[in-house]
Amino acid sequence: MLDLHTLPLTSVTGVGPQKAKELAALGITSVADLLFYFPFRYEDYRIRDLAETADGEKVTLLAKVVGMPVLQHFGRRKSRITCKMTADSLMITAAWFNQPFLRERLVPGLELTITGKWDARRRQMTVSETEFPGSRKAQGGTVQPVYSVGGPITQKWIRKVIGQALTQYAPAIPEMVPAEIAAQRGMIPRREAVIEIHQPSGTKQGALARECLVYEELFMFQLKLQAYRAVSRNRKDGVAMKFDMEEVRRFVRELPFTLTASQKQVIAEILRDLQAPSSMNRLLQGDVGSGKTVVAAVSLYAAVRAGHQGALMVPTEILAEQHARSLTRMFEPYGITVGLLTGSLTDKRRRDMIASMRMGLIDVVVGTHALIQEDVEYRSLGLVVTDEQHRFGVQQRSVLRHKGFNPDVLTMTATPIPRTLAITAFGDMDVSTLRELPGGRKPIETYWVKHDKMERVIGFIQRELGEGRQAYVICPLIEESEKLDVQNAIDVHQQLCAVLPPEKVGLLHGRMPAAEKDDVMRRYAAGELGLLVSTTVIEVGVDVPNATLMIIYDADRFGLSQLHQLRGRVGRGSHQSYCILIADPKSETGRERMKAMTETNDGFEISRRDLELRGPGDFFGTKQSGLPEFRLADMVADFETLEQARDDAAQLLAQDDFWVRPEYAALVRYLKQEGILGTGILD
Ligand code: ADP
Ligand code: MG
Repeated sequence: MLDLHTLPLTSVTGVGPQKAKELAALGITSVADLLFYFPFRYEDYRIRDLAETADGEKVTLLAKVVGMPVLQHFGRRKSRITCKMTADSLMITAAWFNQPFLRERLVPGLELTITGKWDARRRQMTVSETEFPGSRKAQGGTVQPVYSVGGPITQKWIRKVIGQALTQYAPAIPEMVPAEIAAQRGMIPRREAVIEIHQPSGTKQGALARECLVYEELFMFQLKLQAYRAVSRNRKDGVAMKFDMEEVRRFVRELPFTLTASQKQVIAEILRDLQAPSSMNRLLQGDVGSGKTVVAAVSLYAAVRAGHQGALMVPTEILAEQHARSLTRMFEPYGITVGLLTGSLTDKRRRDMIASMRMGLIDVVVGTHALIQEDVEYRSLGLVVTDEQHRFGVQQRSVLRHKGFNPDVLTMTATPIPRTLAITAFGDMDVSTLRELPGGRKPIETYWVKHDKMERVIGFIQRELGEGRQAYVICPLIEESEKLDVQNAIDVHQQLCAVLPPEKVGLLHGRMPAAEKDDVMRRYAAGELGLLVSTTVIEVGVDVPNATLMIIYDADRFGLSQLHQLRGRVGRGSHQSYCILIADPKSETGRERMKAMTETNDGFEISRRDLELRGPGDFFGTKQSGLPEFRLADMVADFETLEQARDDAAQLLAQDDFWVRPEYAALVRYLKQEGILGTGILD
């Protein structure tokens, strides 16, 4: 059977090597790509009644010339024709700009189709497109697709070429969704749906076609995700760790606090995964302050006891230093060695660290993404924990595979994932959730004040410091310029030094040398500094339980999840904590964010609202999101369809003979192409 994915573009009549190259720049490299290059909107040229047209709207009319056209010139190049016409038994004026040649053709009595913007008050239409009777283009009366084009590719050309591709190859578009599911969901044949999307018939069929293609897209995506999960669960190529459970219990008993029920349960889930011969791929979500670090520590402890090394990967050096310190404190009594590997080590120290890791002298290594770079070696890497990095991708896993390891992976995040995102972005993972905060915590009180209340805010700082507590001041975020960001922090630091004992006020920003940052953080953690003025470098993970006051300047510039993360730096001990948002928001969303923050402390609720305010694309920040890109589907708007697709895919995969049944051959081939079955036991 014809494979449209490998069929070159030049097989489409009208596409030569040059045009094929230009299409490639739009990401279109095969006939399949072209057929599935869907329009992002439509231009409606259906003829409408003027009575139903609002002022300023674009409309297509069937109109009759009744007056003589009047041509006026402005300067050498500019001109205007106006002409009286009737449309829907109304007398209107139509105006054409810079098309003087039309005057000849506008003869009284002529009926033509015009498209343009309607000015209801003056009863005038500014015509953008004119169609004379018998014109071959004949878009009047139709709905035309609008594609995203660029470079030398024009709208007109791509419409024509896609039309041509449909004529030649639509019959060869294969069905993907199995017949019984398609029937259940009332789907139309895939090839018909594709044609309808490109060449809308202007009937209800259009909505149905879109639904079918959205379903198909989500179904294929879910199938891929779940097949991947099923296959990797079945694979016995992970490390089946053997450790003495009694020893792990002892470690837990010696911790300075009792674990919450949630922590215990989550740890049990993880330990079970570590013991299993397949490799773990687990997401641990828990609100800020819910105590994820200790879960990581117990897991790492077990891995080391089983004779393996563990790695803890974090997004910032500050966090790496902090985790290295706290793990060292916990592990030292057991003779477990902890190393630190970040980008700012000197070459020599880096080489030494890597050598120690290779020889197995280091049991647990903490670091930034430097941990999985090419030249890093391990003796026996058994567990990778990532903290506050949204995703440990397939790519990163394959880097480790190449080093000869297939470790268990635990991904920890404090951005609770709304359900929609959980099944799209993280559908290939098992999920554990910390549902409670450690006992004895008081809810953080959050206030929103305007800039003119600074004096009172300073009074508040003085009071908390006076009681022996500590505070953070987060400076305005200037996204475009790290330099301005830093300058802001320096300025605010200076201002606060003027009103508070300067030796108590520390400064932290991204441009400081690593050693200096570390020193400031250490002095703050030790309580030598009372107030830390900082950019958002402390956004994630920083843990100083004696800090009770978080002040955020220009808070409306931050995203909701980010604000919640920042707020999570306080409220980590038994003292009452406060968060003060200083903001004069100019936008509605800015005000919404401030309101949400003062109304709730619940991270799940915050992330739900964040998703609403921002949409899924922005939710995780741009790059690392790991979110799939869909052609048509919108994972929020099409959420119900997504759930259906998920259930259908699960049912399908649950059939023992799924992989061998001839009617699923196309799907299995697709999964193979997607690399799902790459090295598994199933191929
Ligand atoms: P997060 O989930 O935000 O990473 P941390 O792991 O930093 O939270 O924990 C927050 C604080 O709570 C730390 O100071 C930690 O020592 C403390 N903590 C963690 N678990 C418990 C517990 N079960 N009881 C009391 N304190 C705890
Ligand atoms: Mg943390």
